[in-house]
Amino acid sequence: MRASRYLIATQKETPNDAVVISHQLMLRAGMIRRLSSGLYTWLPTGLRVLRKVERIVREEMDRAGALEVLMPVVQPAELWEESGRWQQYGPELLRIQDRHNNDFCLGPTHEEVITDLIRSEINSYKQLPASFYQVQTKFRDEIRPRFGVMRAREFTMKDAYSFHVSEDSLQETYDIMHGAYCQIFDRIGLDYRPVLADTGSIGGSSSHEFHVLAQSGEDDIAFSTESRYAANVELAEAVSPSGERPVSSVEMQEAHTPGQKTIADVSEFLKSDPAQSVKTLIVLGECEEDEIAPLIALVLRGDHELNELKAEKLTGIASPLQFASEQRIGNELNCNIGSLGPVGMKIETIVDRSAAHLAGFICGANRDDFHLTGVNWGRDVEFSRVEDLRNVVAGDISPDGQGTLEIKRGIEVGHIFQLGDKYSRSMNATVLDENGKERVMSMGCYGIGVSRIVAAAVEQNHDDSGIIWPAAIAPFQLAIVPINMHKSDVVREKCEHLYESLRSKGIDVLLMDETKARLGAMLADVELIGIPHRIVIGDRGLDKGVVEYKGRGDSESQEFAVSQLEEILL
Ligand code: ATP
Ligand code: MG
Ligand code: MG
Ligand code: MG
Repeated sequence: MRASRYLIATQKETPNDAVVISHQLMLRAGMIRRLSSGLYTWLPTGLRVLRKVERIVREEMDRAGALEVLMPVVQPAELWEESGRWQQYGPELLRIQDRHNNDFCLGPTHEEVITDLIRSEINSYKQLPASFYQVQTKFRDEIRPRFGVMRAREFTMKDAYSFHVSEDSLQETYDIMHGAYCQIFDRIGLDYRPVLADTGSIGGSSSHEFHVLAQSGEDDIAFSTESRYAANVELAEAVSPSGERPVSSVEMQEAHTPGQKTIADVSEFLKSDPAQSVKTLIVLGECEEDEIAPLIALVLRGDHELNELKAEKLTGIASPLQFASEQRIGNELNCNIGSLGPVGMKIETIVDRSAAHLAGFICGANRDDFHLTGVNWGRDVEFSRVEDLRNVVAGDISPDGQGTLEIKRGIEVGHIFQLGDKYSRSMNATVLDENGKERVMSMGCYGIGVSRIVAAAVEQNHDDSGIIWPAAIAPFQLAIVPINMHKSDVVREKCEHLYESLRSKGIDVLLMDETKARLGAMLADVELIGIPHRIVIGDRGLDKGVVEYKGRGDSESQEFAVSQLEEILL
């Protein structure tokens, strides 16, 4: 690709509506642009990465024996009524009507459509097991779309579905898919973990999630220090040192505390006293990313180190806050800054260490200017008011009895389920078995957040200058950066020759051939975009027969003899 014919679209400034690093860098590197809340356009550079992820996913699905199909995004309500999910799914399901007033939805997932297809196409046990997959746009009307394509409303998912006559056959395919997922994330070059998971609204019996470890992850993952046990904290059941499952008691009273502010109040406060140190920002109640972004920008600009931002999904250890937010009066937005009260600090402490000294702290706001106080976060005591508190903390004994638990943040990039007959039974998807008897099929389903993977990869691979792509998904493998190409024929010829030869070998090269670009700006773009290798070619080097090479992760550049370089590359 020639930069002169390309849309590089990089930006110097960090966009102030982007909170997490991947969102910032994907905007700055010219990969995506926001159209509306949770809706993004993929620019050429972003799309190149997305397509590379898709290619790896397709290759591994093909290898696992799944057949590619493509199902519609728009799905008729009748199918969802058959499975019962038209009623169950809630507001994440975007429902629409056509001109005849028929109900449809935009597919958040495709169990109903594939089950409908398979019940009419497959009728004998001899055709099973069978697996199908697609790479398709999904729509989920997320309550709070955020972090760019990480939690979008429209996004790309690979979803696969398998059909079986027996549970053993389902287990076998499930294991194959589990292996294929590991292969996919290994090939992409991510630091990930498969973890035990809750089956959520999709339903079924057994389930694993694949998490990319990153501080910005929205899920807490509990790992055993000694065994391979790993589980999403949504699910993990820990045992206390006494061998019993620890439960917490939260005995709350309301107390008047002046810590609770509106976003506008907090903004004013920060402006008036920039010396305030804000460590934790907790947003309670309804709040749009757009509303909170300016406040966060303000916090970060003021040299405050913002260690943690919590909003909406305050689960696990923070559920008293969730509880508190549910108790709020009306829809008023409440904003709670840790440094103004002990809230944030304490929450951090809980996450980190044992709960022994935490009884009696103040916890969140349940109504204007009121906090919950006297919270007794003891252990081995019955719950009193918060029933869904699954309080696994670091240091608990692992449920398999081996080692203790460590807790890390994860981004869910994949999720596989053994659905059993949840959909096939309600939708009557049967085959004839070897005795000619009708049997309800068993199903598995297997999802990967293809577009989320792109963001997760950036979250894990960046430095101060920009993205550092793992080679397998880099938008370009190599950049050629000429010095004064428009003035020097020798430089032009060398660059063109190298560019054309590499291209003909199928290597993705970006030739920075824009005549007016300054060298510094070109190098900054190449680093920001995260191209793994770059070569700088100029008159002075060529006179000595050398060019300058730098790998994206290297601290120093090196000189290479032109002949040696050509030997390596061509
Ligand atoms: P989450 O817990 O993050 O909301 P989920 O459990 O609802 O995800 P699944 O139904 O398991 O998602 O869908 C399969 C995969 O699709 C997820 O593992 C994730 O990688 C991806 N995914 C889900 N929701 C989104 C979204 N809003 N934006 C981008 N990717 C998503
Ligand atoms: Mg979800
Ligand atoms: Mg999930
Ligand atoms: Mg999931």
